[in-house]
Amino acid sequence: MTAKPSCAAPDTDAIVVGAGFAGLYLIHRLKSAGLRIRVFEAAPDLGGTWYWNRYPGARVDVPSLDYMFSFDPDWRGDWQWSEKYATQPEILRYLNHVADKHDLRRHITFDTRVERAWWDDDLSVWHVCTQHDPDITARFLVMATGCLSMPKEIDIDGVDLFTGDVFLTSRWPHEPVDFTGKRVAVVGTGSSGVQSIPVIARDARQVVVFQRTPTFSIAASIGPVPADKLEKLSADEAAYRLAARTSQAGVPVERSQTMTAGVSAVDRIKRYEEIWQKGELIETLNVFADLMTNPDANEQFAEFIRDKIRSTVDDPQTAAALCPSGFPFGAKRPCLDSGYYATYNLPHVSLVDLRATPIRQVTAAGIDTTDESFDFDAIVFATGFDALTGALAAVDIRGRDSVALKDKWADGPSTYLGLMTSGFPNLFMITGPGSPSVLSNMVVSIEQHVDWVVDCINALSRDGFEVIEPTAQAEAGWMTHLADSAAVTLFPNANSWYVGANVPGKPQVFLPYPAGVDFYGAACAEVVARDYLGFIRSGPAGSRCNDGVVRRLQPDAQMVLDQMAALNLPPLESMSVADARAFYAFSRAALPLGPEVGAVEDGVLPGAGGDLAYRLYRPAGPGPHPIVVHFHGGGFVIGDATTDGSLCRDICVRTDAIVISVDYRHAPEHRFPAAVDDGLAAVRWIADNAAALGGEPGRLVVCGWSSGANIAAVVCQLARDTGGPDIAGQVLLTPATDWGATLPSHIENAAGYGLTTALVRWFCDYYVDPADRGDPRSSPLRAADLSGLPPAVVVTCQFDPVRDEGDEYAAALAAAGVPTRHIRARGHTHDSLTMVDLVVSGAPVRAETTDALRRLIAPPAAAATG
Ligand SMILES: Cc1cc2nc3c(=O)[nH]c(=O)nc-3n(C[C@H](O)[C@H](O)[C@H](O)COP(=O)(O)OP(=O)(O)OC[C@H]3O[C@@H](n4cnc5c(N)ncnc54)[C@H](O)[C@@H]3O)c2cc1C
Repeated sequence: MTAKPSCAAPDTDAIVVGAGFAGLYLIHRLKSAGLRIRVFEAAPDLGGTWYWNRYPGARVDVPSLDYMFSFDPDWRGDWQWSEKYATQPEILRYLNHVADKHDLRRHITFDTRVERAWWDDDLSVWHVCTQHDPDITARFLVMATGCLSMPKEIDIDGVDLFTGDVFLTSRWPHEPVDFTGKRVAVVGTGSSGVQSIPVIARDARQVVVFQRTPTFSIAASIGPVPADKLEKLSADEAAYRLAARTSQAGVPVERSQTMTAGVSAVDRIKRYEEIWQKGELIETLNVFADLMTNPDANEQFAEFIRDKIRSTVDDPQTAAALCPSGFPFGAKRPCLDSGYYATYNLPHVSLVDLRATPIRQVTAAGIDTTDESFDFDAIVFATGFDALTGALAAVDIRGRDSVALKDKWADGPSTYLGLMTSGFPNLFMITGPGSPSVLSNMVVSIEQHVDWVVDCINALSRDGFEVIEPTAQAEAGWMTHLADSAAVTLFPNANSWYVGANVPGKPQVFLPYPAGVDFYGAACAEVVARDYLGFIRSGPAGSRCNDGVVRRLQPDAQMVLDQMAALNLPPLESMSVADARAFYAFSRAALPLGPEVGAVEDGVLPGAGGDLAYRLYRPAGPGPHPIVVHFHGGGFVIGDATTDGSLCRDICVRTDAIVISVDYRHAPEHRFPAAVDDGLAAVRWIADNAAALGGEPGRLVVCGWSSGANIAAVVCQLARDTGGPDIAGQVLLTPATDWGATLPSHIENAAGYGLTTALVRWFCDYYVDPADRGDPRSSPLRAADLSGLPPAVVVTCQFDPVRDEGDEYAAALAAAGVPTRHIRARGHTHDSLTMVDLVVSGAPVRAETTDALRRLIAPPAAAATG
């Protein structure tokens, strides 16, 4: 690409749209960077959310000390919060105070809505049209228009007919509203409804709440700023703020590492009670590590909250209607309230369940449902927002080739990091879709985005560029990562505004980034550290395209790797064999146990050189069952019959088969071919004793992971060549199949993904002499003939050093006429599929694998039909 002519003098360097938290911090940073700016705000004054949402009871639901700018270290001298959760007037006062202190206001043009913006490719500038100015040019356009600033249209007939007062919580009047003695309807029970209902009920003569979907609400501990929190912040403010920026949700709370099933029932309830008493939203969502990934864990907590509702609300019918069901706790934004549920015990407050009796229309006198006519003096609509994309889509933004942003996003927004979108150069979004935004303490996310944008603009000019835009590949990669991150959570399992379900006709995709502020911040920082990975930059210095994808691993597989890296452990291959075995056994035992099975039985069976321990996992239902003989992973050196426990449990539950995990002799004490000799002996013994074990003779599959998959593959070859037994199928998870070759994955995935190529070599040296590495009993891929082997399921993982060995074995089996199902696990590592309930993204791969396995062991009639 050649350098473009530059626009000699755009009217200004940057145009900022919006003057809430984001706009204000942008002014501060952009001015400090020496840029000329124009800022347009549709409202008559600053504050954004806190300007517009003045309804009774409006207050922040993360602690005020966390919900404030961190850029001003001297704030304590001139600002104190009066409450733990500040009310709207106090937050608005705070924002005005910051604006005045840092002289931000004079840059803002109020009462001015930005209506259109279009990119001029010849001059590399944005043209912006407002209500008052037809065309202002700027190098950069920054949309600080807010995630929750575009009220949802009221989709109820007849509102114009109503002769009383109509209020929208998100556009509340500035004059005091007096409900004393009035009959008031409140429509909507999201955050604004839940906050306003108890306050309206204090004055009103009658309050009728119209509820479409009940919400989970946590009782807030309203009161003064907690002394211990202030003390912690004062002791080391920089550390406190850093802890917030590197936390899951933007408040300094460490991610819970405890799984719900990891504690006793008594301790679980105790923990629930503690968190309930604390009354903090983000801490509640962190009650256990698997709250938002494990449906059972979530349901237990949801039921705890329902119990709280039932024990607070006197009327059982009202309580039942207020109990949310049919979606996980947290998947719709939970609320923080002050006496919400108890309000329904007041004699003048009642609830109308719109799922039972929908609103027919608003009338001159009030509201008609399918069941009843109500008369009101006032109706309050707390009906929410067209979240995340609404304010962006309301501006007619045209990028390259006049493509409209609305059209590009017709099927849902597509962004890189939630910061930019391809085809729209120099257009930045603050807390845009695809970033943590509404799933975080937004002030922290706003500051992180503003810092990233301003640093980016500075870096462009430093490096002689004027234009920046994400590549299509980087953006597609981020969208895949976003979808992967959502898929491992329960967030998408609700018709919430997180997925756009509250706005008729809006495409339903999960909008915010759910893996956390910490992981998100790390990705943004990595993009910069890798020289703006995924961006094209151009200007007088020419053009540079640094294409690539910043996150390719499954998010939970990445988290496990990050946690392991943080421990800074010595590599396994630097340990003695004894230490490596002890460490491996310890780390595998620390994994979640896996699902409940009918029974777990330990035993011994005769191997080729003595007794071998086995652990048998029996399904809960009546037998006889098919049998899966499983060989554990561990490079022939480490591991035992118990170390693949959660994987075996998972296979047992998913297939209704008995899974027998058999140990085998390990190197270096017992080198090749001891392990495969034991494997064959074990399979023969199990086949002979199938009935006594509760199994169904003739329905036996061998399975293995890693080195265990090598044994399974070799056993199938030996059984074919040396007189049985009959094996119905082989399931090879990330198999090692060729010790002799060097394949691309050995190099590409040599380090950084758990199993390293160095460790594979360490295992290999202990297990098999160089002279034996071409022997098909050590390298099954080297077998001269693979025909006639049992049908195979081969699973290979993208980020695994031995991936290509598995790929080649699957291809070779298929070429030899063996029915072969090859499952390629995108974004997974050698180990991640075995981490049941920890790496949740492995579940669909295991489901696909065990579906195929089930077909291998299906009774003949069922197998024939499908
Ligand atoms: C009732 C309510 C309670 C909330 N509570 C919390 C909370 O407890 N914790 C939390 O983290 N977050 C909360 N939020 C989210 C809140 O929106 C953010 O915390 C934060 O205030 C957003 O700041 P912002 O500057 O990004 O956007 P906003 O504050 O929404 O400001 C955007 C501004 O852009 C202006 N604008 C939009 N389009 C245009 C245009 N085309 N032309 C000109 N101006 C335009 C709007 O008028 C608005 O003033 C809450 C939101 C609401 C609605």
